[in-house]
Amino acid sequence: MTIDVSNEGELPFELEMLRDTVRHFVRSEVAPVEAKLSLDQAKLDPDQQAALQARARELGLWALATPKRLGGAGLDVLAQTIVAEEAAKCRLGAFFPAAGAIGGDPPSVLFHGTAEQFETYGRPIVEGRMPKAFTAISEASGGSDPARAIQLRAERDGDYYVLNGTKTWITHADRAHWGVVYARTGEPGRRDGISCFIVEIGTPGFTRSRIPVMIANSPNELHFDNARVPVANRIGEEGGGFALADDFLTRGRITYGAGPLGIAEEALRLTIEWAKERRVFGGLLAEKQGPQWMLADCRLALDAARLLIHRAARKVDRGEPARAEAAMAKWSATEAAFKTLDTCIQLFGGMGVSCELPLERWFRELRIKRLGEGATEIQRMIVARSLFS
Ligand SMILES: Cc1cc2nc3c(=O)[nH]c(=O)nc-3n(C[C@H](O)[C@H](O)[C@H](O)COP(=O)(O)OP(=O)(O)OC[C@H]3O[C@@H](n4cnc5c(N)ncnc54)[C@H](O)[C@@H]3O)c2cc1C
Repeated sequence: MTIDVSNEGELPFELEMLRDTVRHFVRSEVAPVEAKLSLDQAKLDPDQQAALQARARELGLWALATPKRLGGAGLDVLAQTIVAEEAAKCRLGAFFPAAGAIGGDPPSVLFHGTAEQFETYGRPIVEGRMPKAFTAISEASGGSDPARAIQLRAERDGDYYVLNGTKTWITHADRAHWGVVYARTGEPGRRDGISCFIVEIGTPGFTRSRIPVMIANSPNELHFDNARVPVANRIGEEGGGFALADDFLTRGRITYGAGPLGIAEEALRLTIEWAKERRVFGGLLAEKQGPQWMLADCRLALDAARLLIHRAARKVDRGEPARAEAAMAKWSATEAAFKTLDTCIQLFGGMGVSCELPLERWFRELRIKRLGEGATEIQRMIVARSLFS
């Protein structure tokens, strides 16, 4: 008897259909393209990516988080987690869902902006005419506590704000045409002193430089030196930026955790197949109790994390506060996925770190997932606070 890892019966029929659509797309259309990549090729060529994106759009796998009223698919958070888990089950999946084929969502803070802002900046992304935008919150002064740490200043000057300061670790800023930047318009250290702005690449005084890290998808440092941004590009009220960020951080943490689960499931599948063939000390690896228990521990941790992800998603979809549940979901999923990859590499031996297999790449990428969108310790802090509130 095998454990039903598909969560059969747990999901409504339409979500099982959605999961099967993504699974089939990844296996039949994404995997063959990835199989032709050289081992050191970190992402698809733009024409390969565009062709896969066109197929994803035909299948309805596009702009999934964007509300229907704005031309998106308007999926709820539970459905988004199903897609995120399945779309990650490919070599490039950790930072490029379905190798970058599934996209089309502007930063969700834009859904709180004006109709003009959406038409100018959001619509081209939803229609596949513009690459993903960046979101710039973190600074060298600290990413874990941005309400206090944000120092980048935005001073009002007539119809403009003048931005001065630096953001760091900002993903996608090298390819984006624009992004959202959180800057201080009010008193230092206060949550209500932060506002959110749309900033275009090419704005005089705004420059970028890449930060090499352990994965190919390098983040960027953003420099603002008297960069003038129109008042019309402020999203929401002055001082209301952090309240807007709070909403997408909670939702984002849930889907952020689902991708690592998909990667870890793939790694576990590959390792079980390997253990059934690899001979050690006159027997199969799969017959030794040590490896069996190591893999059983992974199975438990991944299933528990998935249940927490789905619980948090369902709570958000019911319109209930889910800050602590989202924190538990992100924390458990990214830690379980990272430990699973470590176990899988261990059981593969030297082959585990060979670039012929995707494990070493996934391991490096999952290392960053334990830091991004709030490090594990920050999620623990959120949960601990909820115990005493
Ligand atoms: C590859 C990559 C891509 C990124 N992309 C983006 C992006 O697109 N946009 C963006 O805005 N940011 C991005 N980030 C930044 C990321 O969100 C921050 O790195 C993260 O929030 C941690 O902030 P920090 O690096 O300043 O570490 P710090 O805030 O200095 O924290 C360091 C460590 O201290 C511990 N810690 C902090 N506070 C506490 C506490 N209260 N209790 C216990 N322990 C604590 C945690 O372990 C934490 O990891 C990215 C980072 C990386 C590495």
